[in-house]
Amino acid sequence: MARLTKKQARAEISRLREEIRRHDHLYYAESNPEIPDADYDRLMRRLVELEQDYGLAVPDSPSQRVAGEVAEQFNPFSHVIPMMSIDNAVDEQETREFDKRIKRFLKTEEEIEYVLQPKFDGVSASLTYAEGKLLHGATRGDGKTGEEITANVKTVRSVPLALSGRGRKPKLVEIRGEVVFPKSLFAKLNEELKKLNEELEKENETLLKEDKKPKPLRTLFKNPRNAASGSLRQLDSSVTARRPLHFYAWGVGSCEGVDLRDELEIYEAFHKWGFIAEEPRGCLGIDQAIEYARELERKRDSIDYEIDGAVLKVRSRRLQEILGTTAKYPRWSVAIKFSPKQVTTKIRYITIQVGRTGHLTPVAELEPVKISGIEIKRASLHTEDTVREKDVRIGDTVVVQRAGDVIPEVVEVVPSKERGKESFSMPKDCPRCEASIEREGSFHLCPNTSCPAQIKGRISLFASRNAFDIEGLGGKRVEQLINEGILRNMADIFTLRREQLLGLEGFAEKSVENLLEEIEKSRDVSFERFLNSLSIKHVGSRTAQTLAREFRTPESLMGATAEDLIRVDGVGEELAQSILRFFEDPERKSVVEALLRQVRIEEEPEPSGENEKISGKTFVLTGTLSVTREQVKSEIERLGGKVVNSVSGKTDFLVSGADPGTTKLQKARELGTDIITEEHLKSLIGL
Ligand SMILES: [Zn+2]
Repeated sequence: MARLTKKQARAEISRLREEIRRHDHLYYAESNPEIPDADYDRLMRRLVELEQDYGLAVPDSPSQRVAGEVAEQFNPFSHVIPMMSIDNAVDEQETREFDKRIKRFLKTEEEIEYVLQPKFDGVSASLTYAEGKLLHGATRGDGKTGEEITANVKTVRSVPLALSGRGRKPKLVEIRGEVVFPKSLFAKLNEELKKLNEELEKENETLLKEDKKPKPLRTLFKNPRNAASGSLRQLDSSVTARRPLHFYAWGVGSCEGVDLRDELEIYEAFHKWGFIAEEPRGCLGIDQAIEYARELERKRDSIDYEIDGAVLKVRSRRLQEILGTTAKYPRWSVAIKFSPKQVTTKIRYITIQVGRTGHLTPVAELEPVKISGIEIKRASLHTEDTVREKDVRIGDTVVVQRAGDVIPEVVEVVPSKERGKESFSMPKDCPRCEASIEREGSFHLCPNTSCPAQIKGRISLFASRNAFDIEGLGGKRVEQLINEGILRNMADIFTLRREQLLGLEGFAEKSVENLLEEIEKSRDVSFERFLNSLSIKHVGSRTAQTLAREFRTPESLMGATAEDLIRVDGVGEELAQSILRFFEDPERKSVVEALLRQVRIEEEPEPSGENEKISGKTFVLTGTLSVTREQVKSEIERLGGKVVNSVSGKTDFLVSGADPGTTKLQKARELGTDIITEEHLKSLIGL
């Protein structure tokens, strides 16, 4: 960046301070941030850099303190030992510099012993226990002063009201941790708030007619962290009690009467005293620490709580004391940040995508940005209702999010940026085939089953991995072959000829050969896979499995009546109607018949008989097993058992492989669920 004059720097610094203060207020005091953390961090880093470069740091700059204000409605709570925030390392180089600083400070060349823990993205809180009993709960606030929320933390079930376990209890101990909201329940919370608002609106209509003051509506939460913060800071603690909050212990402040020598001893104490904590991974030297942090980043989407980094700490408390703190941060700890999953960018225009079942999805075409190193150009806006609710307009600056393998989506508009002028509405006709669009609930639908967009979607799905698995026949090629007039439906795939393909763009001799070979190979298929490939509305892989086992051949399914279908466990009225409609449609029926002349459907095996040790039982799998989870799952299901993702009161067995997830294990122990090994499972199955 070009060197600024001192005057320019001064102006830039004052602008940054003002903006950061505003965001701080939105974040801490209102729990309502309008930019993603990554953008906030960028502002802060820029401010710190400029102040350093130009020697313009002043005591009241936001860079000089850990930001935050105490909201008026709770009593202030002074922390005995300040809850400092942790310095960030945004890349490997900064992580290595942290290690070098420590070695320099300790005047050693030896590798440092560290521990690494996930950094939960929630609300930091402090719990004080006197003689083993919970005395105070407080938020972190600005690090020196927080808010007293004792009544509320008591409602969080993972907060022990008294320290458990035998042995000496500390006279006084301050436990620090993170209050988090599960990702899996977040959408449900907003739905409930929406419903509540609808009721309030009705009530308000009456109130307004009677000239009374209307009741305020509830604000929806933007992400699980806001939900945690908003739920914890409720004046009415019964509201907090209804929210599924969770407290993860991660550190100790002041401690009298018990000697805790290192971070692993602290973890053992947490465990003994009844706290939930992630076991810190010990690492010798910075290389191992970086490797473990990367492992954790890869796992982040499979954990039900938001994790935005890994905390690296010097293991020994004695060394921690020697290292001490700077004015702002402890010297012995650093937060290794993960790449952000949210970024801001601008919407260039909005297009309509027609899916294989005819659903119309508005798609935001974006100015390209990178999330976790992957370039994002488009993001889903789901439905017209979503566009309205979020008030998204063409030209808006928006927050875009990408989590796991899910299609990127537009989270919200950044209101402080210049707003777009053009609002969006669904067209009256399908943009591909011009059929009149129909509405189905909040969805818009192209009713024309011969719509080229739908055909393309169906053929692409047909050739995809979970269906016929034809390598070399992806979406682009399907589109190309449809445009060439060579493919009109799924069955046409099996009559493709060499000379039709040769000479088309991208189809050299070798690739034509490979494709035809792949197609040949795919002709043998199970009934289940066949069903899953047809794009019958409401028929996913699970339903396909159920139907295949029940009807065993395509002919018997095609001859089934509504009564036959509904008699099957797991088939409801809506699904039955959808299957009947599919086979009644002359065009789609003729495609299925053409397909049946081309492929060989493997006979579905006779049901193997249920195993009473497995049948009706619910299993959860964790850790690495000797075969894939899919295989174990289908074996359990074949014998009449069920496999679900998380441990609950209904779980019968937790099957624990190598390197199991600690959350699942702890939950199973809490609930007294049977924890079994893979060997044990095999003996139940009868292998
Ligand atoms: Zn159409």
